Amino acid sequence: MNDQTTTDAAIRLRILTCPTCGVAFGVPAALHAAAVSKGASIFCPSGHSQPARPERPEELLQQNFLLLEEVATLRFHMDNAERELAILRPLAPTASPPAEPVPLTPAELKHRCKVLALRAGHSGPTKKICRFCVKALGELDVHLLRNHAKEIESMPASIFVLP
Ligand SMILES: [Zn+2]
Ligand SMILES: [Zn+2]
Repeated sequence: MNDQTTTDAAIRLRILTCPTCGVAFGVPAALHAAAVSKGASIFCPSGHSQPARPERPEELLQQNFLLLEEVATLRFHMDNAERELAILRPLAPTASPPAEPVPLTPAELKHRCKVLALRAGHSGPTKKICRFCVKALGELDVHLLRNHAKEIESMPASIFVLP
């Protein structure tokens, strides 16, 4: 156990007074309730035992009042938080915009055209077939760059990885 630890967590305490030595001490309310239901004893810091007694009606009434107050406070904080959220929500970055084809550098585009030209079907010794316009052309890479840059840009990069 580390006595140095501090926390902001709220713990409801039952404040008891030891009938033997008169010291007042706090017992977590949940622990107290468990002791009451089991008929177990509670010990004061000096070790005097006393049976855990159910709370008296007036104590219950007071606790009820405190709980109602707590509920009102929490509701107030919740309303505030919701109002703040409503103000902040429009400022929050929206989900990533739909993926647009990233503009390629001229070098990348040229490389892609070369790869496509390399893989294009031949038509005779010097002509290759353009996959986009299905024409046989010489200097296919130049043709691709000039006429099909947009289509080539939107193709997934993985297509252009040479084995
Ligand atoms: Zn005591
Ligand atoms: Zn073409």
